[in-house]
Amino acid sequence: MQTQTSPKQNIGYRRNLAVELLDKDKRKQYLHAKKHGLPDILKYMYRPVLKDCKVVAASIVYALAAGVLPLLSVFIVEILVRLLMQNDASPERLITAAGIYAAAFFLCTAISAQLKNRFYSYFMRLRILFMNRIMEQYMTMDYGLFENPSFLDDASIWQRCLYNNANGLEGTYHRIFEMGGTLVSAVLLGGLLILVSPWIALSGILFVIVFYLVQKNIAVYKHERREELQRAARRSQWLSGEASDFRYGKDMRLFKMAGRFEQAFHPLIRAYEKLYKAFTRRELQLSFIESAALILIDIVSFLVLASKVHANAVSIAEFVMLLTAVTVFTQTIQLFAQGLAFIKSETMYVGDTIDIMEADLVSTGGENHVPGSGPVSIELRDVSFHYPGSDTIVLEHLNLYIPAGEKCALVGVNGAGKTTLVKLITGLYQPTEGQVLINGVDAATIPQEEIFSLFGVVFQEVQPLALTIAENVAASDTGIDRDRVIECLKQAGLWEKVSKLPKGIDSPMLKVIQDDGVVLSGGENQKLSIARALYREGTRMMIMDEPTAALDALAEEKIYREFDEILSGKTALFISHRLASTRFCDRIVLLDGGRIVQQGTHEELLKEDGLYQKMFTAQSKYYRSEEGEATA
Ligand code: ADP
Repeated sequence: MQTQTSPKQNIGYRRNLAVELLDKDKRKQYLHAKKHGLPDILKYMYRPVLKDCKVVAASIVYALAAGVLPLLSVFIVEILVRLLMQNDASPERLITAAGIYAAAFFLCTAISAQLKNRFYSYFMRLRILFMNRIMEQYMTMDYGLFENPSFLDDASIWQRCLYNNANGLEGTYHRIFEMGGTLVSAVLLGGLLILVSPWIALSGILFVIVFYLVQKNIAVYKHERREELQRAARRSQWLSGEASDFRYGKDMRLFKMAGRFEQAFHPLIRAYEKLYKAFTRRELQLSFIESAALILIDIVSFLVLASKVHANAVSIAEFVMLLTAVTVFTQTIQLFAQGLAFIKSETMYVGDTIDIMEADLVSTGGENHVPGSGPVSIELRDVSFHYPGSDTIVLEHLNLYIPAGEKCALVGVNGAGKTTLVKLITGLYQPTEGQVLINGVDAATIPQEEIFSLFGVVFQEVQPLALTIAENVAASDTGIDRDRVIECLKQAGLWEKVSKLPKGIDSPMLKVIQDDGVVLSGGENQKLSIARALYREGTRMMIMDEPTAALDALAEEKIYREFDEILSGKTALFISHRLASTRFCDRIVLLDGGRIVQQGTHEELLKEDGLYQKMFTAQSKYYRSEEGEATA
């Protein structure tokens, strides 16, 4: 059956990112189009920090307090040696000098330690905020991207950047905070040594440059292999997640799968080993350059100090002080160079994370709207589909028209393509060929958000979130219509259970966050998700994708029939592999091997000598025995 197509058919199409971003080069170009320099990344990172005067002030005070500490050690050496060498050095003067030093040292240490600890959590909070934005991206990005492992290997680099305190974003914030102190020390000590000779300070600067360049080379080498590293990391994370997930616990034990899991880790460990061997090889090759630059500072310092002593240009006390200053300067400069290299290395991953955070991962486009306000009609016109990245054709040249207000059933064996069809109708995927028309308008020309808002879908795998029951039903935490929540729970057949809970619809769900969280059975979770679909206003089509799979066949039929009454004129698609559950529908469409093989009412299809009749006869004996059990 044909429908009218909108006159505004060709006013721009929605993108199909799941297909577009399959190609590695295009993906790189799309996600990492802009090459971020270090200043750009730091500017992005410090945008919120610079707005907070307290943090800026704390960073400056920390830098000064921590920065003068090494200088104090250098000066106390000079003062003590000088006093000791004076014939009239009294113990009081020695004690006074040591006391002043101790007090200053204590004060600076206390201030710097206080500030460092106080602002630690501030930077941690910034990391969590970044993480929230990434989570938002993951929750809203095109569904097809979420099922593309290559895209995930690339996109999940943010985990390397945001998963811990010591590296990535937060590690960089902490290191920059601390490096303020190192910089002040390096400048003060360098300034002191310049008074003696510029060569020591110059050799220090040379060391920093050499160290930075060597470490940058190693960091870039590692960064170029980040996808391989991330692939191994993501897979081992997944495996360890499954190994420790209690839902798989029964199968693991009964089917002795632990050994198989261990085996699955071996290739990942080998991949890690191979990568890290390459990294250490490179580090080893380049480490001698760093050592040579470090030795250069020692040689220059030795030559400068020796020449001063030889020329009687410095006293013993000054000599000891300068020797200490050189030692501390070398350590400080090393620390500073390491800090710079760390920042360069880690900010490359921050740059990648910013890319993912800022990327437009929702297939935008399309300016058409679905006309009318009541139930919608759906038409699949010559639709073929294979999942992005897979060559297996799941749906082949499918034509189907569901008029507005019809109760249609889609039946077929497992793997026939029913859920895939739902994904196409609801806009989660776009067809490889052909069109999906909603009220006669090509869905590819309608904004994705608008398509999503049309459907109330109850899927097979339903998992409540760790929120309250009311929040789960309303899919929101504000403006909840409590009466409506209760009404929907009643309609879904869950009110009896919920009304008996001490906190009713305010009961928290799951035990991951709250000890007293409610854990529902599989069937009850499905009822909860039915209540959620009913709660949603503006729904113009209901889809039940075997949400009752955890229930027995008779219970499924009962729920489907009740649901039919609730729907009041909405277009509805009922999906099941149990033919008896959907026999009340206006029309039944039988899908097999990605094609529609039969369609009609239950009675019509039973009369035909076809697959429907065969399947129904085969399945009916189970219903008979269940009915028998139920009435026994
Ligand atoms: P049904 O709902 O009828 O049981 P599905 O639509 O879930 O069937 O699956 C149809 C076919 O598509 C199956 O062969 C399945 O393996 C394949 N398939 C489902 N999801 C994906 C996916 N994300 N990527 C690749 N193939 C998939």
